[in-house]
Amino acid sequence: MKTTRLNIQKIRKDFPILNRKVNGEPLVYLDNAATSQTPKQVIDAIVDYYSNYNANIHRGVHALSQEATDKYEEARHTIQQHFNAEKAQEIIFTSGTTDAINLVANGFTEFLEEGDEILVSAMEHHSNIVPLQMLSERTGALLKVIPMNIEGELLMDQYDALLSKNTKLVFCNHISNALGTINPIEQIIRKAHKVGAAVLIDGAQAAPHVKADVQELDVDFYTVSAHKMCGPTGVGVLYGKEDWLNKLPPYQGGGEMIAEVTFEKTTYAGLPHKFEAGTPNICGGIAFGAALDYMNAIGFEAIAAYEHEILEYATQKLLEIDNLKIYGTAKNKTSVISFNVEGIHPYDIGSILDKLGIAVRTGHHCAQPVMDFYKVPGTVRASFCFYNTKEEVDVLVKGLKRAVAMLK
Ligand SMILES: *Cc1c(COP(=O)(O)O)cnc(C)c1O
Repeated sequence: MKTTRLNIQKIRKDFPILNRKVNGEPLVYLDNAATSQTPKQVIDAIVDYYSNYNANIHRGVHALSQEATDKYEEARHTIQQHFNAEKAQEIIFTSGTTDAINLVANGFTEFLEEGDEILVSAMEHHSNIVPLQMLSERTGALLKVIPMNIEGELLMDQYDALLSKNTKLVFCNHISNALGTINPIEQIIRKAHKVGAAVLIDGAQAAPHVKADVQELDVDFYTVSAHKMCGPTGVGVLYGKEDWLNKLPPYQGGGEMIAEVTFEKTTYAGLPHKFEAGTPNICGGIAFGAALDYMNAIGFEAIAAYEHEILEYATQKLLEIDNLKIYGTAKNKTSVISFNVEGIHPYDIGSILDKLGIAVRTGHHCAQPVMDFYKVPGTVRASFCFYNTKEEVDVLVKGLKRAVAMLK
């Protein structure tokens, strides 16, 4: 497959923050799996909103309120088209992936009972594990884990063995934020549906790298956070099949989610408003739309191809460092590299890299069970975005060599 090559230097000019220095050194930002940086096109959308049409939506007859409503709904359409949802009302604005997962986990309370089972992958983010544990406690449904191998790939034969007519829900991330593994979600979804289970795919880490087609995947729920894909924090989306969203009870009560309220009884609004109580993050939603426009203009195929190149280059360069071990070596992985250098605490490496202007993540990456699996307290994680360069990989490797020499 031939893809157009990215003009990285031109792209970097869109991101004002990439010009700044940290501790006197040019910033090398390699913490994209935690949050991505924001291009000026998105910053402009935010400034435009607050400068020109800041108003509450859906309620006002006045011009500003109309404009804000139109732009917000336009953003919903942009998101719908991006993920190829059949209907705009299947796109629910949330405060992010965590919020979206909690919405679904709460909604399933009335559908589960003792004897039912929920499957979750061994490489989940805490935002999946914890709401499911709470759901399990509320309902008596059993939580079971789909195990993985040492490479960080799910054991699909074990998944087959776990699936049964008791399985009601399967939660799995599309891409692991701790390991970079791209999970075989097509298979996971198809097999779950065969036993009648619903599937939620956590797309927080995948959405910046691959464009999911929710209809083709036939997924029941898909979640994303804007801040990991060039958008602002505090906004994200739950995609849900219309049937499921109609069946699920409202998550929160409040304004905007009602049809009629008396003290005796309230009837709920239709989709998507049933799940959007209160004043939403209007500006955030609009800026999320702008972020998707920005990324689509670059093109997801080109992004994926370039990030793969960076991943291969960085992996090869990092492995030249003595006693460096990479966790997560799946055949199918994205530009996230978790590693440790034997005998050195990840936090110490991270601190020295920071002094050199290099931003990496250290710790458990909200996936403590993954760290337990590898028997490490945490890892150093370098995660790359399409605006990162091979020169930055070289700076990382040089910095690491310095850190290792100092800490040995
Ligand atoms: C970041 C992330 C989350 C949590 O997203 P929030 O934006 O913090 O709600 C969940 N799952 C994965 C795989 C992530 O990478």
